[in-house]
Amino acid sequence: MQLKKERGQLIVLSGPSGVGKSTVIAELLGQRDNIYFSVSYTTRSPRVGEQDGVNYNFVSREEFERMIRDNELLEYAEYVDNYYGTSLKAIQERLDAGIDVLLDIEVQGAAKVRARCPGALFIFIIPPSFEELSRRLHRRNTDSEEVIAGRLEKARVEFREIPNYDYLVINDKVSNAVEEIEAVLTAAECRVENRSSILSQFA
Ligand code: ADP
Ligand code: 5GP
Repeated sequence: MQLKKERGQLIVLSGPSGVGKSTVIAELLGQRDNIYFSVSYTTRSPRVGEQDGVNYNFVSREEFERMIRDNELLEYAEYVDNYYGTSLKAIQERLDAGIDVLLDIEVQGAAKVRARCPGALFIFIIPPSFEELSRRLHRRNTDSEEVIAGRLEKARVEFREIPNYDYLVINDKVSNAVEEIEAVLTAAECRVENRSSILSQFA
């Protein structure tokens, strides 16, 4: 049963670069209402096909450092030589309006959100194997061999953070991964504390 929520659920999705987060998120957003994808700020250059304001807000290093100084970010991290961060204002407005907010962020940023937002839900996505992760990064054809090597090395460090997450989703087939995330979000909606509005009439 779909109820109007008093507050949206903050959902953090992490997983190594190339595992398929963007692909899975696009599919999820296409089939679920009342969820907003937080468009991050980054200093990295756009990949072919990426649009400013859609995939990321692409900004200069100077502008990003100004946002840090002015406390405009919920969290930020440096990842393979670039800054990535989440705008506090954009997500706060949605959560207050009862809209779920999905963050696609790496593990250091997720740790900061864990400390600041105790009610958030943490999901980690893994590939079916390490070899498949390497294949996907190569097949995407957007990064140099050197950048791919850096991302694979980073992936090994990121996997060590999995015990800090609530749920582990395997992106073998995109539709299965989306189904697993849907199941997690539905279970979260059914939590007693998230159903207080319907409970009041039974008091
Ligand atoms: P991320 O956002 O995690 O960096 P992408 O969504 O860009 O990853 O996916 C990396 C590559 O893997 C893309 O070429 C994408 O089409 C492909 N991909 C994503 N999910 C799957 C899957 N389940 N099976 C095979 N290829 C996939
Ligand atoms: P990519 O360059 O592949 O798009 O992203 C690299 C990594 O940065 C991914 O692990 C992605 O989850 C992470 N990332 C994207 N946006 C943010 C953000 O706003 N904050 C943090 N901490 N990480 C982010």
